Amino acid sequence: MKDLLLVFPPQWSPFQPPLGPPSLSAWLKREGFSVSCMDANILFFEWLLSDECAWHLIDRTGRLPLTWSQRDGYEAVLRRSADFRRDIFALREIKGSMREVSAEEVVKKHYIATKALEVYLEVVSKISGEFAVYPYDFRIDGGNLDIAALEAMLNDPPEILSEYASRIIDGHILPRDPKVIGLSCMGQEQLYFVLLFGRMLKERSNRPIIVGGTFLNRIYEQGSLSQEWFGKYFDIIVKNEGEIPCQGILTNLREGAPLTKEVPGIIFTEYGKVVSAPEARPLNPAEIPFPDFDDMPIERYLSASTTLPVLASRGCYWGKCEFCRHGMVYGEKSYKTYEIDNVYHTVKHLSQKYGVTQFSFRDEALPPSIIRQLGEVFPPHSETGWTFSGDIRFEKTITADDYTNLYRIGFRNLQVGLESGSERVLKLMNKGDDSFRTLAMVRNLTAATDAGIWIHCFLFFGFPGETDEDAEMTYEFVLNNADIIGNFGCGTFVLEHNSPIYRHLDEFGVRITDRPAGRMNVFYEHEVAEGNSVGKSLEWMDRLVSASNKIPKFHAVSWIPREQYICILSKMGPKRLVEEGQSIRDFRNLPRNASLSEVASLLPHPSEEGTVIMINRTSHRIQNLKGNASELMLLFHENGFGLKEMHEHCPSCTEWL
Ligand code: SF4
Repeated sequence: MKDLLLVFPPQWSPFQPPLGPPSLSAWLKREGFSVSCMDANILFFEWLLSDECAWHLIDRTGRLPLTWSQRDGYEAVLRRSADFRRDIFALREIKGSMREVSAEEVVKKHYIATKALEVYLEVVSKISGEFAVYPYDFRIDGGNLDIAALEAMLNDPPEILSEYASRIIDGHILPRDPKVIGLSCMGQEQLYFVLLFGRMLKERSNRPIIVGGTFLNRIYEQGSLSQEWFGKYFDIIVKNEGEIPCQGILTNLREGAPLTKEVPGIIFTEYGKVVSAPEARPLNPAEIPFPDFDDMPIERYLSASTTLPVLASRGCYWGKCEFCRHGMVYGEKSYKTYEIDNVYHTVKHLSQKYGVTQFSFRDEALPPSIIRQLGEVFPPHSETGWTFSGDIRFEKTITADDYTNLYRIGFRNLQVGLESGSERVLKLMNKGDDSFRTLAMVRNLTAATDAGIWIHCFLFFGFPGETDEDAEMTYEFVLNNADIIGNFGCGTFVLEHNSPIYRHLDEFGVRITDRPAGRMNVFYEHEVAEGNSVGKSLEWMDRLVSASNKIPKFHAVSWIPREQYICILSKMGPKRLVEEGQSIRDFRNLPRNASLSEVASLLPHPSEEGTVIMINRTSHRIQNLKGNASELMLLFHENGFGLKEMHEHCPSCTEWL
């Protein structure tokens, strides 16, 4: 019997394993406890793609008010779930043989898998009607933070979610018979599943349930954590880093003491009241063992090569951006770096133990001192085969040599918060204390690009006080620097409870418009006294996204999920990646080197004899083909014709796709 089973619930990215449970389990094992981990998130994606789930959904289409053509279209997709599975799992099949696969093939497989996953999840969401699931998101109707909507869906879960949760609980969690169950809740996407698992576990057993991962702590801080949730969905919340609190809880369990006795860093109930214990001390990197991925299904992530997460620092060394609470998992204002030898030995250990060569630094932002040391201490990529991705912050102190060194040791892509192209807004955001921050941005982007490193930038419109003139600067900055910006993700400002700006909203002329009583107000609707409204900022976002799609380089790569860059760029340089992406865009958004059967499914129409339904699995375009058209496509499909070859014989066939 294990002391603790750590469960990582949906919804989270299916492309890489999480770092939290493997790190916590390593710590607790070293302290003498028996612990195992389970990634229920990857099992969720596998469930959604399974035939059983497809049959549940087909059954549901018969009960929905759909038009005939909608029903035929959705059912056609679901009846071909095996084709979608094959597209998506094809990435796993090239694991270990990436060296032998051509660059063109790597891009093709990533493109088909990514688009097929999007299309399939869209159909799942449409039929479910009560939630929407994406590779990066999960939203319930009524909002993930609306208490009434959440509780209604917990009391009566959608059939496929209830079936999935039962399988996880009865098939995976309870048979392991853990004394305590830990659930991670890192963001609002996981909240519904944490509560659903919690409720179902409570119905079936009296094991204590601990929830970590900061999101419930954020709800508690905001003041909307219901006391009734204790005992109903969980028993204890771990506020920040889980190592010391969980060690304390398991020690109490072993000694037969009340679980919460003298445990720091937790929230629990005592005499009918919610109590928050004093903070646990922040961890010192030198005392943290190597993460233990033994229980993580590292071959099953939806990726062509497994990427393991690592850390070189805990917290953000800058930590002053007005909108940001990213580093709160380590406790407010806590920041520590790892010794570079420790980082090197962690990577070496994980590489040898799990046969993995790709690593993603999950630091909030790699500090310049670590960047320099990594470049100086790590062996070259030519010796190790290691490749890396990571997040940085634009700094004047990061030199061209630093980027060259990062490339030499295997860094292939970096992510950075560009945020805005306006000096004035960057100052308002407190992004840095340099006077010409955009100059530092261009210098960093240029040096990284020259070194061969792809940079993905995050930015947003609508920081309080931003005007049209400022937004235009961001717009121009991105479009004018397309040669040095790899790609970018764009959003609008989100006002988070307890973010630095939240503590002095008056200075920014921000007014919170609504604090609805039945909602966990971790994020607020707001309006600004000066500058662009939320609506105007959304317009700027749409404007930039649509303008960037007219820039061939951005359009060529806009389909690539962030986590997949490291896999693709480990195989080819940025120039080749853009060329391959461009080739897909130029060929009606289809990979020329694919066969017809790799992108399309053909099946007989259920009620129209002689008609064939053709589904383009990369675009969700569905066509009913009759007569010569159906005969031709069946011929190409059954005989394994490549799209290029098919196009040469019959250009209009490509247009039907
Ligand atoms: S936005 Fe980035 S640099 Fe700024 S405080 Fe957050 S993690 Fe640090």
